[in-house]
Amino acid sequence: MIGQEIVKKLEESAQATDTKDQAVNTPPAGYNRASELGWVYDCPRYLCLRRMYPEKETAPGTSLKRRFREGKKQERLIVEDLTAAGFKLEKLGRLVWDKYKISGEIDRLIEINGQMIPIEFKSCSSAMFHKVERAQTKEDLIRSPHIWLRHYPVQCQTYMLLTRREPSVLLFKDKEAGDYYPMDMDLDAAYASVILDGVQYVNDCVEKENPPPAELKEACEGCGFFAYDFPGTEKAQISQAGIEIIDDPDWLMKLQEYQALLNSLTVYQEKGAERLDKKFDKLDKEIKEAFQGRKVIIGEHLIESKPYQTPTYDIPKEIKEKYKQIQERFRTSIKLIGGEL
Ligand code: SF4
Repeated sequence: MIGQEIVKKLEESAQATDTKDQAVNTPPAGYNRASELGWVYDCPRYLCLRRMYPEKETAPGTSLKRRFREGKKQERLIVEDLTAAGFKLEKLGRLVWDKYKISGEIDRLIEINGQMIPIEFKSCSSAMFHKVERAQTKEDLIRSPHIWLRHYPVQCQTYMLLTRREPSVLLFKDKEAGDYYPMDMDLDAAYASVILDGVQYVNDCVEKENPPPAELKEACEGCGFFAYDFPGTEKAQISQAGIEIIDDPDWLMKLQEYQALLNSLTVYQEKGAERLDKKFDKLDKEIKEAFQGRKVIIGEHLIESKPYQTPTYDIPKEIKEKYKQIQERFRTSIKLIGGEL
């Protein structure tokens, strides 16, 4: 009984903190959250609905709220670590860019070589951290099957624009082991320009009260507007559409080997990791190439590869619009059915 009383009080205190944090984190009415602008790629409708009908969004569940809280606690610990290591940090207030109706709060500025630059903290589980460590560039994050990872580069670009400071750093922390993994992010003018085009599109849609239509897609799975856009639809229907079942012993063995290598990589970090990495990378590439553009089940694995389009510019900025091209690429996830990957 004493223990239950303690947990009850902890929960009450956490809820009071949530309410306070929510008030601080809510952007001014009519503004897009800088941290959510990655949705311009995945579903601009989401950004429109966030501004037009926020009351229609399903509130985050208890476990998601707990994860947000843990993220906040980790932020405090990361600040402590950086301060103890002698870094000068600065917390800015809410930043607002009226022209594009963007509002955001960056985690901190950090002094590097006499310059204060934006730094963004991201804490994650050990399993996710080991996947993140494989990413070298912002393009690796953009290709991720995890929607929230795909959105981080957009967040960094936006913070550099909001603060007019560059470069920036994305600092990941394994919250179980305490390890850090940094990614430097340079301002990419062409990429930033595409993001701002997307934001302008959202702003125009909101102004005309005409959001893009709802389309059932992977992003809907974690979206708070799912019940509003697709009443009576089960989330399982999103992933069940168009699946091929492949019963091929060779592929079955390859997937089993893939999983064994992945499990080893997750627990086995030092000796021999490079050799394992190469073998894993080769197999990962082979599987992703073989099933490009398809959604298949092989044994206990679901492989899902979807096209995505990125505008690229290989020419001077002033004439880039004229030469804008859309490149189609594929984003592939390989996951254990019923397991996280
Ligand atoms: S439910 Fe799907 S279509 Fe609707 S806003 Fe969310 S991601 Fe977009």
